[in-house]
Amino acid sequence: MLRLEDVVKRYPAPDGGELTVLEVPRWELGRSERVALVGPSGSGKSTLLHLLCGIVRPSSGSVQLLGERLDRMKESSLDRLRASQVGYVHQSFQLLPGFTALENVLAAAAFGSPLSKRRQRERAAELLADAGLADRLDHLPRQLSQGQQQRVAIARALVNEPSLLLADEPTASLDPETADRVMELLAGSAAASGAALLLCTHDMDLAARMERIVTMKEISARGSAAPMPPERPRAAIG
Ligand code: ADP
Ligand code: MG
Repeated sequence: MLRLEDVVKRYPAPDGGELTVLEVPRWELGRSERVALVGPSGSGKSTLLHLLCGIVRPSSGSVQLLGERLDRMKESSLDRLRASQVGYVHQSFQLLPGFTALENVLAAAAFGSPLSKRRQRERAAELLADAGLADRLDHLPRQLSQGQQQRVAIARALVNEPSLLLADEPTASLDPETADRVMELLAGSAAASGAALLLCTHDMDLAARMERIVTMKEISARGSAAPMPPERPRAAIG
């Protein structure tokens, strides 16, 4: 499903140098696997999720999703692949403020769904109902609680039946009880549709509910929260 090989991600540093934030010799995620990704703040979890769906390109190395090399793909093809195959749940929901719950879900369907407009509408309403929001379809994000907004974001991520579901600390701003329901919804939806789920969190209780836990340390030679020293020439890692 997903395969990273020799991936390095560097960013320009304020001092004019470069900062290596990720160094992944090799990492894979299988179809229908449900995995928690844990690591301290700054260890590169978000960067990794962005690489996995092509929002960010690696400085070097290969990122394969469903057999396609994301690192070599044109922007327009990437957009299409991402819209149809990847559901992304952001930590801060990122709902469109002027759109209702239903419209937020439909906006994602408009880009990536092969269904007719009528079927898209039915599916979006079904997903929101499954998320316990049947009576909130026409509410704007600001008229919804945090947990309800996160559930709209999950319905949006699921509307195009993605094969890969990525969730970036999806419960970080929720109380424990709501976090629990949101986790249930995410893991349950992934299991029902056979999607792979990669969820990053620093809550070990939540992580323990996935099939497998991986730490950033295991994945990346650079999984550290400590400030990084200025980049010096180094011997190749391998
Ligand atoms: P996490 O999600 O685990 O908290 P991030 O992936 O957000 O970590 O960040 C990892 C490191 O990469 C941090 O040190 C951060 O400062 C750096 N970083 C992330 N995005 C950028 C960027 N666009 N430009 C420069 N540095 C960045
Ligand atoms: Mg992050």
